[in-house]
Formats: sequence, structure tokens, C-alpha cells
Amino acid sequence: MPNTEILVIGGAGYVGSHFVLYALKHGCRVCVWDNLSTGHRSALRDVRFLAGDLNDREAFQAHLAGNRYHTIFHFAASCLVGESVVNPAKYYENNVIAAFNMLEAMRATGHDRVVFSSTCSVYGLPEELPIREGHAKNPISPYGKTKLAIEWMLEDYSAAYGIRWAALRYFNAAGCEPDEGLGEDHDPETHLIPNVVRHALDLDPRLVIFGNDYPTPDGTCIRDYIHVTDLAEAHIAAMRKLDEIPQIRLNLGTGTGLSNLQVVEAVSSACGKKLEPVFGPRRPGDPPELVADPGEAFRMLQWQARRSHPDRIVAEVLRWMSDHPGGYAEVH
Ligand code: UDP
Repeated sequence: MPNTEILVIGGAGYVGSHFVLYALKHGCRVCVWDNLSTGHRSALRDVRFLAGDLNDREAFQAHLAGNRYHTIFHFAASCLVGESVVNPAKYYENNVIAAFNMLEAMRATGHDRVVFSSTCSVYGLPEELPIREGHAKNPISPYGKTKLAIEWMLEDYSAAYGIRWAALRYFNAAGCEPDEGLGEDHDPETHLIPNVVRHALDLDPRLVIFGNDYPTPDGTCIRDYIHVTDLAEAHIAAMRKLDEIPQIRLNLGTGTGLSNLQVVEAVSSACGKKLEPVFGPRRPGDPPELVADPGEAFRMLQWQARRSHPDRIVAEVLRWMSDHPGGYAEVH
């Protein structure tokens, strides 16, 4: 669909900026709306950029009233499980209230399609692995609860007001596009792969693995790492599929899990240096194992992860971080 006009809320963030690049390459006309609270302006090139906050509903609605978008993509969220446990208010405000503002502005201006970044955290502790979309939803962190609350809002807005929506439940977003100048840069960095790479590059003296007494083969948590560009591809496919299906809920993962210690090993072998993590206590809100069943995404969208091999992910993150030890602050 060349020249499709899209609005990307949170397009300056890690997943959002990779999506923007992919959408531009596939002929979309992109406008980014982002409050830059965690995103980076320098992660964006050749797009219309508006610095704005969804919690300024008047400004957002005025923007929608003056423009006509085929689809709105919502990436803007607070997304740290641990932080959400200690500061749930931030999560209800930035996630639930902001999404409500977005939906109200969409309703008032006749915008009727949204692709929403959801999460495997909506499931809570897995009762069955790999996790299918129909799995019980019992989120154990405020982060997961806020994302599930938004999915419920979408369901109700769809039934009552005809909004078409896709909730894409990401497993662990990873990797980057160093050739395109895109990487992962959070402050503070809390995610496993960038933290292991920072330690490997001597940017961080200590590497702490949170918990080694989980009921998994090596005692550390298992996650399903999915490349951000694979996520981006699924978003465009979901946008197209909304022509046929008004409500879409899909897992986006690879179907294969990697333990925290296997991640450390993968980085060790990529940089030819034995890394010695220390073990700390479990991090509140962390389920032992999260692995997707990606079968439904394949059946519905003919989509599957093609860029998510751990060696590729680790090599890319190593390259971007060695080139940008100070993150986007060094990009001009
Ligand atoms: N983790 C860790 N040390 C770190 C960062 C993360 O042991 O410095 C663990 C975390 O407890 C979890 C896994 O790595 O078991 C993945 O965490 P991450 O924050 O990357 O993603 P999440 O699964 O929370 O979305």
C-alpha cells in the first residue's frame, strides 16, 4: 500500500524507530508523535516529527482533526516490569489514561484503525508453554495489567464504535539495525542483552543476573527474543489484515527460549571473552519462562521471525554499542 498515511505514536523509541524505518522503506508516509521522554529524536530521519504527549488530549485531538491517517500505531508506553511494581501510578497514567485519550480523539475525529504494542506480560505465570493467544490472562505486574486493560478498552471500543484494532503481544524485543544507525539506548538500561553487551565492552563493571533458583534447566529465567525488525514487519502485515478482520490479537515471538545464562554465553562467544556474571536476588514481577507459540501469527499473517537468531541479535547489539558507547547522545 504505497503512500499510506500513518501516525506513529512513540515512533522515537526503540521499537517505534525501527518500525518507522521499515514503514518508510515500504512506502508509507509517516508522521511521528512522541514526547521524547525515553525516545531519541536522532533515531528518526526523513519523517514529519511532532513533539507531543497523549496526555495533552486537546493537542492530540486537534492534530487528528487536521489530518487523515489510514492507521495509527501506538508504541508509546512505559514498559519496565520492575519499575511498574514500584511506581504503578506512572503506568496507569502513561499507558491506560494515554491510550484512553488516544481512543477518544480517534472517536471524535473518525479515525478507526489502530495497531497497538501489547506484551506477553498480559499472560502472567504461564500455565502452558509455549504460550498461545487463548492462554489465561493473569498479569502479575502493573505493566502487564495496564496493557491488558488497554486490550479490553480496544475490545469495547470496537464493539460500540467500530474501531478496528490489532494488539501485538511482543515477547522480548531485541536486536537493532546498526547499518541504519539504529540501536537500543535506554537510560538507565535495564534489559538483559544490552546490559550483558555493556559489561562485555567494559561500559559497566558488573553484570548481575537476577535469580538462579528458578525452575528452569540452569536456574535462570528463559525468554523468547524477537528482532525489532521482525516486529516491524508484523505491524505492517497486521495493518493490512485489518481490512478483513476487525479485532486481532497475536503473539509475536520465535517459539524458542534462551535462558539468561545462555544470553551471557552467546555474548561471551561473540566477543571472545569469558564473562563472569554475579547472581543477585530475583526481580519482582519476572515469570520463570516466557516463550511464544507463534503459530497463529503465521496462520493469520503468513509472518514468522526471520531475523531473530541470537547470534545475529548479539552481533548487531555489540556493533552498535561499540560504535556508540554513549548511545544516541553521540549521534549528530
Ligand atoms: N535480567 C538480568 N540482569 C539484567 C537485566 C535483566 O538478570 O541486568 C533478567 C531479568 O530478570 C529477566 C531477563 O533478564 O529474567 C529479561 O529481562 P529484560 O528486562 O531484558 O526483559 P523483560 O523480560 O523484563 O521484558
